[in-house]
Amino acid sequence: MVHAPARPPENAPPVRINLYSDTQTRPTAAMKEAMMRAEVGDEQHGDDPTVHALCDRMAALLGKEAAVFLPSGTMCNVVAILTHCRSGDEVVAHETSHILHSEGGAHAAFTGVQIMPLKGAKGMFTAEDLRAAIRPRTRYTPPQRLLEVEQTANIGGGAVWPLAQLNAVAEIAHGQGWGTHMDGARLMNACVAAAIPPAEMVAGYDSVWLDFTKGLGAPLGAVLAGSSEFIGQAWRWKQRLGGSMRQAGICAAACLYALDHHVDRLAEDHANAKALARGLRQIPGVVVEEPETNLVFFDIRGTGLDVARLQERLRMQGIMISGLGGRVRACLHLDVSAPMVEEAVAAIRATLAAA
Ligand SMILES: *Cc1c(COP(=O)(O)O)cnc(C)c1O
Repeated sequence: MVHAPARPPENAPPVRINLYSDTQTRPTAAMKEAMMRAEVGDEQHGDDPTVHALCDRMAALLGKEAAVFLPSGTMCNVVAILTHCRSGDEVVAHETSHILHSEGGAHAAFTGVQIMPLKGAKGMFTAEDLRAAIRPRTRYTPPQRLLEVEQTANIGGGAVWPLAQLNAVAEIAHGQGWGTHMDGARLMNACVAAAIPPAEMVAGYDSVWLDFTKGLGAPLGAVLAGSSEFIGQAWRWKQRLGGSMRQAGICAAACLYALDHHVDRLAEDHANAKALARGLRQIPGVVVEEPETNLVFFDIRGTGLDVARLQERLRMQGIMISGLGGRVRACLHLDVSAPMVEEAVAAIRATLAAA
């Protein structure tokens, strides 16, 4: 069993259009400049001024007391759940959530929580769904401790939870004495799409994190925010998991650069996603989900080609795209321009027609 990621096929041409993921962006020249100029110190010792600047800025942006810099979004979820819960507790989350499907079983391996998967369209559930999931408190039932939501919902098609629905489920959770946690890997996409300031969007959530390696285009890093008490506890788990860093200001500088230069432009990605969806919809047999943010999911079962073959044939034309559970996912980000979208639509059309 091989656990390492596959290398690209040897005979494949260089990737020209990368729709595989918004994690595939390369730092821009200006971002690298900012990294080079960063003042740094020993982060785990509390001496890195650029990391402090990033955490202070993120706490303010998200309306929380404090924040902590972590190497990845996955570590943010793991640290947050370790901080909110004890082993044997139950976390209530959507059945398509990242914590269930894409963290290598971290919650079974490290946090010891069980996750109750809720159903619902587009990666979301309603207040009624959540009320129906509340267990009686008996010696038999797992203690429910935490509500977890994804904003935007990735497998949900990049859908944006409406603010009223986010607040309604958070209120129910708090009414039960549970904590609330938001996986905000693509939070800024949601805020830009809904034109809602981040602090308002996350007000109902005790903890929230944002990934700098998705549409924001930084090479690594995520920031988890919450109360000072919560972040103080989170630091212990960060240390235990080996997430404490040294001259991390090099990376925090890229994140600060992204906050200044790569947030408003997410609207371009959303416009490109809509254009891609419009183009794909013209292709016979392709069923496209209407994008709300930067992710475009489509179904090619009506075309006679399967997802893996489409991926392979596009890759040989220098185009990368991802397959998720039988659907094709195209991801828009700062390295994909409007002309590239047109070219990708033409290539997908030709590839499906040839099949
Ligand atoms: C990417 C992603 C994560 C994990 O972030 P990494 O930085 O890749 O560890 C968590 N949740 C969602 C919804 C994501 O899209």
